[in-house]
Amino acid sequence: MTSTMPEHFSELPLSPIMQRALAQIGWSKPSPIQARVIPYALEGYDILGQARTGTGKTASFAIPILEQLDPLRVNPLPQALVLVPTRELANQVYGEFVRLAEGCPTQVVEVSGGKHMQKQLNALAKGVQVVVGTPGRVIDHIQRGSLRLQGLWCVVLDEADRMLDIGFRPSIERILRRCPENRQTLLLSATLDERIRDLANRYLFEPVVIDCSDKDVSVETIEQRFISVSPDRKQEVLLQLLEREQPPQAIIFCRTKIGTAKLHRQLERYYAAITDRKVRVGTIHGDMSQPQRDEVFKALRENKLDILVATDVVGRGIDVSSISHIINYDLPDDCDDYVHRVGRTGRMGRSGIAFSFVSKDQGYLLTDIEQRINRMLEKDPLSEVVGKRRESLESLNKSEAPKVDTTGVVDSTEEPKSEPAGAEEHPFGSAPARRTLGRAKSRGSIRRR
Ligand code: AMP
Repeated sequence: MTSTMPEHFSELPLSPIMQRALAQIGWSKPSPIQARVIPYALEGYDILGQARTGTGKTASFAIPILEQLDPLRVNPLPQALVLVPTRELANQVYGEFVRLAEGCPTQVVEVSGGKHMQKQLNALAKGVQVVVGTPGRVIDHIQRGSLRLQGLWCVVLDEADRMLDIGFRPSIERILRRCPENRQTLLLSATLDERIRDLANRYLFEPVVIDCSDKDVSVETIEQRFISVSPDRKQEVLLQLLEREQPPQAIIFCRTKIGTAKLHRQLERYYAAITDRKVRVGTIHGDMSQPQRDEVFKALRENKLDILVATDVVGRGIDVSSISHIINYDLPDDCDDYVHRVGRTGRMGRSGIAFSFVSKDQGYLLTDIEQRINRMLEKDPLSEVVGKRRESLESLNKSEAPKVDTTGVVDSTEEPKSEPAGAEEHPFGSAPARRTLGRAKSRGSIRRR
């Protein structure tokens, strides 16, 4: 194995058909995970790879699988099985296989929940080479006898940490125990915690460990800011932000399905009233059927949507490289969800920007996020601009009445100044914790969870 990293796909030992498919897609340079995984995977090694989504990890296993498929073996016994945590990801991985298989007819079947069972049964019976699926539906097919694993020579566990989070461990183990022992196993995960290492110890054979994690969990090209805003004025501030940014393509994350649907309706009404430009708004949340969700994903990918209002559940599966803006209209409770949301932009090294709405009592959540990503979020000037507007309104009114927040934006200048002069001005109550972060950061001693 050479130690230098290939700069171009042409430096990898790939077939002319694959080189042509890559050229047709328009990829010339392998991403770091591809440059490192593909050569080992082609040699048949088991791999334990650490990489986030958006790094090109799908092709890092799809290319070597397609390169090694027996083209003449098309029967109901698949040669490769890819397990993924969500239906959306199954659909994306399936799509990537199909794109990369251009020029060489390949039978790839997607078996995930929420899709027509009969269609999957027919496709599997007709003859299949690669199966991409979620663990629940794969088990379902195994039990029906429609999916048999004896012919597998490669199994991929994609986003393994996420599959364990969802509770798929028993299903994954059931599936792996039924696979041939002399198979190749590729395990990819954003984190290599104890659970993942334990899984790898049991089911991988002397794996090559490849660490393509960013040292900084939040991608460097993503600018991340917060906007302090009171809950009752979020919508107003959102509209100001959208007007200022005019994002080419944005995802707005909400916490609940009801909140998501409501904000979607409000934005639709708002943009319907604007005649000088067309802004197309869509939504995706857990109450929608799978075909409805698929349609929205397709529209987003084909650039037929400018703004998507979404919940976390579906947000994780979104892989659209053109997304420029992420807006956390509601902050997630879980820092990992923040990382996942923000990771929807800045795909494959493109730049992106993320804004998080934070209310006064959510300072602790912001601190948690900052500790998780090992970086301080910048305060967006929108807070100050609107804050200043309020000041000028107040001075215009010259009113003696108690101050009323007419903007919804929490103005940091109104915080009681408990810190000595010259201390970091902070709109939330947890400034000491944030400064601790800053110090720890400079010593490089933050421990990630
Ligand atoms: P993934 O991490 O597999 O979800 O990939 C993220 C995005 O990058 C997808 O839209 C891929 O199609 C795209 N992609 C993967 N590999 C490359 C590459 N070598 N050059 C350009 N784009 C790529």
